[in-house]
Amino acid sequence: MGGPFAVRKDERGDLFSRIGAFLAQQGLSPDPAHYSFAYDVIANPAGVIAQAVDRLTDGGVRLSRSDIEQLGGRVAIGGGGAGSVQDGSDRASRVENEAMRLVEETQAQVDGFTSIVRAMQDETRDFGRDLAESAAAIAPANRAASTTAGLDEIARITGSMLTRIRDAEVRLAHATSEADALRAKLAEANDTARRDALTGLPNRRAFDEAFTTRRERDGPFCLAVCDIDRFKRINDAHGHQIGDRVLSAVAKTLAEECAGHLVVRHGGEEFAVLLHGIPLADAAAHLDGVRSVISGKRFRLRESDKPLGQVTLSIGVTAVHDAEPIDAAFDRADRLLYTAKADGRDRVCAA
Ligand code: GH3
Ligand code: MG
Ligand code: MG
Repeated sequence: MGGPFAVRKDERGDLFSRIGAFLAQQGLSPDPAHYSFAYDVIANPAGVIAQAVDRLTDGGVRLSRSDIEQLGGRVAIGGGGAGSVQDGSDRASRVENEAMRLVEETQAQVDGFTSIVRAMQDETRDFGRDLAESAAAIAPANRAASTTAGLDEIARITGSMLTRIRDAEVRLAHATSEADALRAKLAEANDTARRDALTGLPNRRAFDEAFTTRRERDGPFCLAVCDIDRFKRINDAHGHQIGDRVLSAVAKTLAEECAGHLVVRHGGEEFAVLLHGIPLADAAAHLDGVRSVISGKRFRLRESDKPLGQVTLSIGVTAVHDAEPIDAAFDRADRLLYTAKADGRDRVCAA
């Protein structure tokens, strides 16, 4: 017979799933040491280790821990091999770029790990169910023919295999929840990498991605660049901290007034807005309304209630052409912004 193990040549599936199947059948946790042992066995079916495994597992008996150690493998105790990845995720979520690097590097690992573990879980569950059925079938026969010592032995082996299957299921469930937690941390890191820490708005990376994945079939869309006027004066007069608060207040107002559109902090005291589904004239009119809301606000110092003076925005807005690259559209909006500055600030310039 072909035997239940994934080392046989006629087994289908790629190396990953065969390693997964081998670990599941052997009741081994998905630790790196176990993977490398399984890899040895599966990748070199004619090798000394694979041959020895074949002999030891003939007839469906699993390898014991000491079998593996004798064959030169290291046996890891306990849950998954995901610890180092998780540590990396904790460190990386602090810094946008580091978060980004981690996200890219780990996403593939998490996907691979989770699918292996899920496949193993499915397999052990099926195997466990089959064994439970076999055990149920053997037990009455064993009672009827109590003199048949062999049946006693089969029932005992089956019972012990069932226990091992259950243990494996618990370990796999643990590994799966670890992978799920890791996935959640990655989602968080993904968000951190695309959000500006001061204002809470999406950042330039999010903007670039949204622009690149835009769908022209959703209708016309416009790009606006908004820059706070004479912001340096606010910093110079009141200090950087107050400047930060003004930046956050302007960001909040922009996001509220442009709800439904993408508002990002593009850098410094400059914001970008992607307005979907509206023609240029409507976008310009809408942004002029936003400009007027901001210039109408009376900012005051929280501590002393002293007025900060008027805060105004200059805005350049342009219609983005089909398949136009981001740099070309942004340069046009930026030139319009500087026309608005040159024309006296606190205004919208559209083209
Ligand atoms: P203009 O009307 O021509 O745009 O004048 P401006 O003073 O706004 O432009 P300028 O480019 O000369 O200065 C921008 C200032 O914005 C200088 C910089 O220190 C300040 N700034 C950029 N990022 C931040 C920030 O995160 N916090 C604070 N407080 N200030 C910032
Ligand atoms: Mg400015
Ligand atoms: Mg600026």
